[in-house]
Amino acid sequence: MARDYSAIRQGLEERIRAAAERGGDRNRPVRVVAVSKMTTLEEVQLAWQSGFEEFGENRVQELVAKHAELPEARWHLIGRLQTNKVKDAIERSCLIHSLDRWPLAEYIEKRAQILGRQVDTLLEVNISGEKTKAGVTPEDVVHFLSSLSEMRYLRVLGLMTVAPEEKNPEKLRSLFKQMKHLFDSIRGECYPNVEMVHLSMGMSGDFEVAVEEGANIVRIGRAVFG
Ligand SMILES: *Cc1c(COP(=O)(O)O)cnc(C)c1O
Repeated sequence: MARDYSAIRQGLEERIRAAAERGGDRNRPVRVVAVSKMTTLEEVQLAWQSGFEEFGENRVQELVAKHAELPEARWHLIGRLQTNKVKDAIERSCLIHSLDRWPLAEYIEKRAQILGRQVDTLLEVNISGEKTKAGVTPEDVVHFLSSLSEMRYLRVLGLMTVAPEEKNPEKLRSLFKQMKHLFDSIRGECYPNVEMVHLSMGMSGDFEVAVEEGANIVRIGRAVFG
């Protein structure tokens, strides 16, 4: 049976609104990136027609393929980015969530210069310290950001994290709090080419806790596409 994406979207929006309210601000905007990595273009088209406007892919190849069929949507790259895929990624995405290492920043800067346009990214933070997770450590964040001053095309517009697998999302609350704390402390500083606008955290299993703690972009796959 076909999935009712309008109902799914409304249900998610209600849960996000309620979580934002519990977090203290019902009217705070929270963007939903529907993560389409596990689904087909046909399902993405249906979701788009039902009002989902932003989609996320973790592989550049998939991003390129789906973007070609639905260029009107806003596409986000959320997975690890290899330097040889940077050109494709920056041409097709509105935001790269997975800036996770210095050489990648340098490479994006180089490609962006060739394209002659600004590229917006989020710095991925490995907040849990798990060895399997990408991202800079919380201790390295400030050094990383203060090194961006020579860049002319790359901008960091916020932070992103992928929380550990956890059946009980309540156990992730302190990690989300740490991310928000980091976000706020950087926002109070003035690093060139850095602006703390987006805090991308929360997935199908934990987005309500993430929003309660201050996420303003959630990346939701299974809860949209099954
Ligand atoms: C797959 C993925 C998601 C979505 O995960 P769900 O649990 O399906 O909501 C979010 N962020 C990243 C980086 C992902 O790879």
